[in-house]
Amino acid sequence: MAITQEKNGATTETRMDLGQLQEIAKKHGTPVFVLDHEKIRANYREFKENLPRVQAYYAVKANSNPEIVRTLYKIGASFDVASLPEFMLVYENIKGLPPKERQDFIWDKVIYANTIKQVEALHELDQYKPLVTFDNIEELKKIRKHCPQAGLVLRIRVPNTGAMVELSSKFGADPGEAVDLVIEAFDSGAVVEGISFHVGSQCNNFENYMQALQLSASIFKESESRGHKIKIIDIGGGFPVKYHSKVKSFKTLARKLNTEFKRLFPEDIEILAEPGRFMVANAATLVTKIIGKAERAGKTCYYLDDGVYHTFSGIVFDHCQYPLKSFKDGEKKICAAFGPTCDAFDTISVAEELPELEIDDLLYAENIGAYSIASSTYFNGFPPAKVVHINK
Ligand SMILES: *Cc1c(COP(=O)(O)O)cnc(C)c1O
Repeated sequence: MAITQEKNGATTETRMDLGQLQEIAKKHGTPVFVLDHEKIRANYREFKENLPRVQAYYAVKANSNPEIVRTLYKIGASFDVASLPEFMLVYENIKGLPPKERQDFIWDKVIYANTIKQVEALHELDQYKPLVTFDNIEELKKIRKHCPQAGLVLRIRVPNTGAMVELSSKFGADPGEAVDLVIEAFDSGAVVEGISFHVGSQCNNFENYMQALQLSASIFKESESRGHKIKIIDIGGGFPVKYHSKVKSFKTLARKLNTEFKRLFPEDIEILAEPGRFMVANAATLVTKIIGKAERAGKTCYYLDDGVYHTFSGIVFDHCQYPLKSFKDGEKKICAAFGPTCDAFDTISVAEELPELEIDDLLYAENIGAYSIASSTYFNGFPPAKVVHINK
């Protein structure tokens, strides 16, 4: 691995060795998704160093590869799951790994952070006495009926302004109704352990977090004044990844958060977060091969063996771009890059800058670890990229 210092930003970016990437592509074939576990560990350490009071619950949906779960568990992370299969994936992969004595295992290690749960999932989850989120009265009734041993976390709606992926229209109780929901839950015999929020993914507007903490703190105070002390604040995900130089620094966000924790909440509060993208985005590089080449309307079009139905799905679902890079040098010109399927929608870019390349040449795309391979399909018979782990 080569360490390169980014010129315009404060961060040090670790880039995978290009020789090693080519070796891996040769050995395993393409498309190949190279996942660097040392980078995942470095991200976790960076998170903990900057937010020492916060326990990180990795949001499994960002990349549900079981080896990521194992690596993060071993270094101390917990997990945010959103479905029964995700819950079982975590459970099965940390079972048997030390520390073995974990009476409180489920709450310490997993939060079920989807506020809408299937009845069948609730039934199954009850035996684990899980910690689950909710944001409305119907869900509260469902949980009380089908998963009565669950501990509750109330998710509130907070501003998502300026996040790359916006969620506030789909999830979260109105802050004005939050205390009533807390009281209602306690009255039904449940225990509300915490308040949670999610500011939206790749959040570059730190005011969202500040306003969300402020809202949560007033809910804490009002609940306590009405006889119910809440112990957990879960600040969700959204921690921005430095895809380019305009992204603000995580360090600055962490500093602001630490100040607000101290100012707004009691000392003994438990603080959780649900980072997804932050842990994995820069830990993976995709290597893909040119399988076709054509001149159309004066532009060179390259056809690759991976596309938007596969690892490049983040272009669609995550509103993310992954610049294509060549292993070859040469004068760059504007070209187009398409995926392998028969659908015109399978377009990676119509304005990529690459040197003149040939069929069988390899390309790579960095920072493609989050919300990418996780939503790969088998559309048109093309399977998802192989995953190769390094530094595991
Ligand atoms: C997706 C999601 C996350 C993770 O978000 P990132 O932006 O990847 O950190 C965390 N919490 C909830 C509830 C989510 O839906």
